[in-house]
Amino acid sequence: GSTIGIIGGGQLGRMLSVAAARLGYRSHIFEPGTLPPAGDVAHAVTTAPYDDHAALRAFAGAVDVITYEFENIPTEALDLLEGVRPIHPGREALRISQDRLTEKAFLQGLSLTTAPFADVPDESALESALAEIGTPAILKTRRFGYDGKGQARIMSPADSAAAWADLQGSALILEGFIDFSHEVSVIAARGLDGSVACFDPGENVHRDGILRTTTVPARLSPSQRSDAVLIAARILNALDYVGVLGVELFVTPKGLIVNEIAPRVHNSGHWTQNGCAVDQFEQHIRAITGWPLGDGGRHSDVRMENLIGDDLDRLPELAKAPHAALHLYGKTDVKPGRKMGHVNHVLPG
Ligand code: ATP
Ligand code: MG
Ligand code: MG
Repeated sequence: GSTIGIIGGGQLGRMLSVAAARLGYRSHIFEPGTLPPAGDVAHAVTTAPYDDHAALRAFAGAVDVITYEFENIPTEALDLLEGVRPIHPGREALRISQDRLTEKAFLQGLSLTTAPFADVPDESALESALAEIGTPAILKTRRFGYDGKGQARIMSPADSAAAWADLQGSALILEGFIDFSHEVSVIAARGLDGSVACFDPGENVHRDGILRTTTVPARLSPSQRSDAVLIAARILNALDYVGVLGVELFVTPKGLIVNEIAPRVHNSGHWTQNGCAVDQFEQHIRAITGWPLGDGGRHSDVRMENLIGDDLDRLPELAKAPHAALHLYGKTDVKPGRKMGHVNHVLPG
């Protein structure tokens, strides 16, 4: 059988490895940090920094196709890997999603609506961006942000100096604050043959910048539901994308606004493990290996709840809850804000 190379050994890499194994593939993780949660399920693990080119080359040579759980892979590493084996999703999806400024410009180029935004290279640019966009607004680092990290809210112009002091030193973007009623996401997939399949949109609730729950079905009208799917398909086709993509959307009375995209399996797609015959992890493996895609149809309603930090204390109770499927990541040290697992509550139909 073939071997899937997965860059990143966090929980997403772990669940991709499990899905690969179920389809008869081996998986080999390349982890640039330490102690990957995926280490105990993958067939092989390489732990090395991205600038260890010999290790990268050996990893690429040992696998048949390369994918990733994490979009912030340095360009030089990608150049090297791409010279050895195909990488899916491809370079363009990574380039665009690594930088919020590039991403928003790309989305607007597809005639999709985003929050108003401005590049903020220095403090005077922040003043003029605030004058143009108004408050409330959010100052964000262009790169490397996740779980709401690297963001400062500017409720009134008086907050701008503090926001600048907090984030200066990184390339920044200012975004106008969207007055949304709720947040949804579409987990979509595109195969090597260009076919597209979407899962039903899920409704997402965040706390302290971190995803807490995803519930399907989301509260959406039929036309909003089809808009959400069409938006995802437009992005997939524009990128000639192969694999699973997450698209985060704000729901407003004026329509759907695209918040951000993630070129990988997505936390808000974990409900598919217990709501669909083919979940997002299997769908991703199918896409990158040239299988036909699963149809994405949903057999059950689900509420996915992330288990973050101390939430693990609730395990004894959760283990007894009816129709609650536990997914634990095998992480040993509990830290506040750390994603330790999730539970899919299958809802009575
Ligand atoms: P993720 O962990 O999803 O990658 P992230 O750190 O990249 O998150 P965003 O998705 O940009 O951050 O923002 C996190 C949350 O903050 C959003 O889900 C939303 O609730 C809120 N938020 C972000 N940008 C805006 C905005 N322009 N207007 C209103 N709310 C926003
Ligand atoms: Mg993000
Ligand atoms: Mg987000």
